[in-house]
Amino acid sequence: MSSNQALFERAQHSIPGGVNSPVRAFKSVGGTPRFISKAQGPYIWDTEGTQYIDYLGSWGPAIVGHSHPEVVEAVQAAAAKGLSFGAPTEGEILIAETICQRLPSIEKIRLVSSGTEATMSAIRLARGATNRRKIIKFEGCYHGHADSLLVKAGSGLLTFGNPTSAGVPEEFITHTIVLEYNNLEQVEQSFAELGSDIACVIVEPVAGNMNLIKPKAGFLEGLRRLCDAHGALLIFDEVMTGFRVGPQGVQGLSGVTPDLTTLAKVIGGGMPVGAFGGRAEIMDNISPLGAVYQAGTLSGNPVAVAAGLKTLEILARDGFYEFLGKQTSRLVEGLCQAAKDHGVNFSADSVGGMFGLYFRDQIPSSFAEVSDADTEQFKIFFHSMLEQGVHLAPSAFEAGFVSAAHSDDVIEATLQKAQTAFAKVAESIA
Ligand SMILES: *Cc1c(COP(=O)(O)O)cnc(C)c1O
Repeated sequence: MSSNQALFERAQHSIPGGVNSPVRAFKSVGGTPRFISKAQGPYIWDTEGTQYIDYLGSWGPAIVGHSHPEVVEAVQAAAAKGLSFGAPTEGEILIAETICQRLPSIEKIRLVSSGTEATMSAIRLARGATNRRKIIKFEGCYHGHADSLLVKAGSGLLTFGNPTSAGVPEEFITHTIVLEYNNLEQVEQSFAELGSDIACVIVEPVAGNMNLIKPKAGFLEGLRRLCDAHGALLIFDEVMTGFRVGPQGVQGLSGVTPDLTTLAKVIGGGMPVGAFGGRAEIMDNISPLGAVYQAGTLSGNPVAVAAGLKTLEILARDGFYEFLGKQTSRLVEGLCQAAKDHGVNFSADSVGGMFGLYFRDQIPSSFAEVSDADTEQFKIFFHSMLEQGVHLAPSAFEAGFVSAAHSDDVIEATLQKAQTAFAKVAESIA
């Protein structure tokens, strides 16, 4: 048995930073990441044998609980028949039909292997279908790591944005306009000036990559109206929210219908599956039917699709989302109460099985507001919870995830530990 610390040191010799995705490295909270050896239901265990209640849920996919026996069985059965064929399978039709049936905005869908691929392909498709160049995105929304999406706002509206990563030449992002989330006026102004060259607006319809931030009333409706008025496509990036906030994602909750939707995370049930879909007339622009090229050796992988299909089947069972929403609300309300008991400035929000914790008085509605939360207090809270066996996202700018395996006992145990954690935060202020 190796300690987390020993593994982290060893990992850094062969893997940059010791991790295969940066947030796992605990850089923003400090300390040593837990190296996970197994997971079951609401729990994960590290290599030292310590058990944690898990609110990371693999960043969303583990919605039915880790290692759900039916999902594991489906994966084993698929694996026994072959890992990959590079030729079509019936499973791909089944998952496509299932998603098209559940999300009315999707008439046709194509599978990929990650959220990054889904958004990158959807944007290429939007540009190809409209024959326009520019895209609008919002500050704080994450759409994967494609070059043209790694951009933060410039100094003024409609000035060029700045790359958020080395290796992205400025020329690659000249067609990306970055605006403030929930600021419809900026979108109106951009369309007024550049409307005839704007291919699409891409948005996290509930943002989950700058902590959790909900759209203000009228924001999504306004995006729909402006896109329609100017012939641009509206892309809902529901990679995180799809099948997570409710049975039809944010499009079901808001009643706003996007032209294209991107999905991943939950639809793979823990295996690498992403997808983008929308109206048939738009989707038919993709090769082999149309001129927009898009492909993938492992796209629609049979083992991954089996995990996704079984997960989607479980989600459709009676009362699934009612229970998930109830458990998440209970957690969030309990945390707010515990913070209040200790006099800590704190707020929290949730939608379906997704939640946000903010060390500030008010629930934020923009990247600027969420950036103003107290990250030092978050760190103290995070480490106290971790020491007590609760695994939260290791950053104040990430959302949290509850699964259907988070029973009353599990939520109750979490809230008990939160008392101790908030007491520590209160001590640090005093
Ligand atoms: C996670 C995420 C992505 C990227 O998905 P990967 O599978 O990590 O490439 C894109 N968009 C949103 C909204 C996400 O939450």
